[in-house]
Amino acid sequence: MASQEIEALAQSLARLPGLGPRSARRAVLWLVKRRETALAQLVAALAEVQARLVECDICGNVDTQDPCGVCADPRRDPRALCVVEDVADLWALDRSRLFTGRYHVLGGRLSALDGVGPEDLSIGSLIGRVEQGGIDEVVLAMNATLEGQTTAHYIAERLEAFPVRITQLAHGLPVGGELDYLDEGTLAQALRARRPVA
Ligand SMILES: [Zn+2]
Repeated sequence: MASQEIEALAQSLARLPGLGPRSARRAVLWLVKRRETALAQLVAALAEVQARLVECDICGNVDTQDPCGVCADPRRDPRALCVVEDVADLWALDRSRLFTGRYHVLGGRLSALDGVGPEDLSIGSLIGRVEQGGIDEVVLAMNATLEGQTTAHYIAERLEAFPVRITQLAHGLPVGGELDYLDEGTLAQALRARRPVA
């Protein structure tokens, strides 16, 4: 039997997405055997991230710097802005490397059921960014769920008054599909074939 401390570690790891109790115990055993190397590195990396984690003031991304690495990168195209529901979507899209612009994280989606209204999402700051000018295209990259699409329509309406092209991911995406779970090829295709919002 493992000690209380080791058991507590296994329980913490078991809560991670994709890990169950069994995989967590295997991971603990693996780490315990590598106390001086892998375990020490993991502890250092966790402490570093925990100490430095901040939310980007501009886009809502989570990073260890503010503005985040994406907003601060001068090679990014400032004229293209991609709106996503969550940080996970930003990371998923950015992994596809097809979008070279910047992002805006809403922090969720409109949901009558869960009582999430426009004022609960960072829509005001999105309008503010578009209002400032210099943006030609806003890509609405909401998930292919009913709530995601409702959110996209709402934002498209709010942006109607501005001289920007509003496009949407091509939804050959599976309905109900969350961006984060899509493989990079599918995501890249959805981005490449994006179309104007009707
Ligand atoms: Zn940012």
